[in-house]
Amino acid sequence: MSVLVMKFGGTSVADLGRIRNAAQKVRREVERGHDVIVIVSAMSGKTNELVGWVEETSPLFDAREYDAVVSSGENITAGLMALTLQEMDVPARSWQGWQVPVQTTSAHSAARIEDIPRANIDQKFAEGMKVAVVAGFQGISPEGRITTLGRGGSDTTAVAFAAAFDAVRCDIYTDVDGVYTTDPRIEDKARKLDRIAFEEMLELASLGAKVLQTRSVELAMRYKVKLRVLSSFEDTDENSGTLVCDEEDIMEQNVVSGIAYQRDEAKMTLISVADRPGIAAAIFGPLAQAGVNVDMIVQNISEEGRTDMTFSCPVNQVARAQDALAKAKEAGDINFHDMVADTDVAKVSVVGIGMRSHTGVASRMFEVLAAEGINIRVITTSEIKISVLIDRKYMELAVQALHDAFELDNAA
Ligand code: ASP
Ligand code: MG
Repeated sequence: MSVLVMKFGGTSVADLGRIRNAAQKVRREVERGHDVIVIVSAMSGKTNELVGWVEETSPLFDAREYDAVVSSGENITAGLMALTLQEMDVPARSWQGWQVPVQTTSAHSAARIEDIPRANIDQKFAEGMKVAVVAGFQGISPEGRITTLGRGGSDTTAVAFAAAFDAVRCDIYTDVDGVYTTDPRIEDKARKLDRIAFEEMLELASLGAKVLQTRSVELAMRYKVKLRVLSSFEDTDENSGTLVCDEEDIMEQNVVSGIAYQRDEAKMTLISVADRPGIAAAIFGPLAQAGVNVDMIVQNISEEGRTDMTFSCPVNQVARAQDALAKAKEAGDINFHDMVADTDVAKVSVVGIGMRSHTGVASRMFEVLAAEGINIRVITTSEIKISVLIDRKYMELAVQALHDAFELDNAA
């Protein structure tokens, strides 16, 4: 039997009518001859409500109880989805993570899936069950406690099941009809891509295109799971949505596939730190320990043994970064004259695997920004990505200008 994994996000199961709509899509796949594993999210807004209740009850909450509460939204949807399918005469049953069991690490609220033994679900398929509805986002730790996988984690549950069951495909149903060249809310000429390579999707996902949880894309790439993003609100067929796949499966590669942005960035500079071996470790060690997600790092030219060190991080982590660095200075681990935070910046990135074989993308990007009078504060590059930090007020303009310049309105 061929197994198909279908995942429905929160907006796709937001009320009973939408669950019915999703169940109809599942029934159609059963009729096409698949055994289906359905992964469900909590009804939209539910997880936020549960998180709010935990925080109100206990500001310094026990992470194990956080997981016990926050995982429950998915249980409701899983049961309701199984009931809806049964009402449609489709043999279905629900599974909570621990029943499968989805075995995870003990890192509560950010657990990783270690293994998904197939035996229980395989046996039910063998007995005639057509659909296994599994609560996403959750699992069980070696200690026997309920865990969750981090926000957006149902995507990762879906991909992990697709890998474990050698699924023909993992279809992620959501409220958008695919992956776009950029955010259509910023650029109305944004185009839906038919295909995008894993690596490109990874860059776009981590750069703020919030369609898929980054970890789910990493996992799909590792296990070569064909991942498809499509709308649960439209009639869909085999060719709908965007297929996230191996780059070999893409015939015509675009040099640039997409433009991503991160609106709420901050740029911090430590002025005049000693330029000696170990200084970067002394700065970024405490930041990592404080949980600051440092992104871009630039060490400026040094003069008389001292240099300026600039890095970027999310705006809402600036206070934490300042605190960690001030403490490190007090402890004598680092020494700087001043610490300057600029909280009005945004990051804009162009992404494309074609950059590996085409030169001139960076210079073209810089020309386009220059022509719009946009000053670049920091630049970083990787093999398939160029990112710049610019003033936040120019972010939309930069995205639109770059989208035009790289002719993404013709992309497919
Ligand atoms: N319900 C969880 C969340 O909102 C997991 C998910 O939907 O992927 O983060
Ligand atoms: Mg999601």
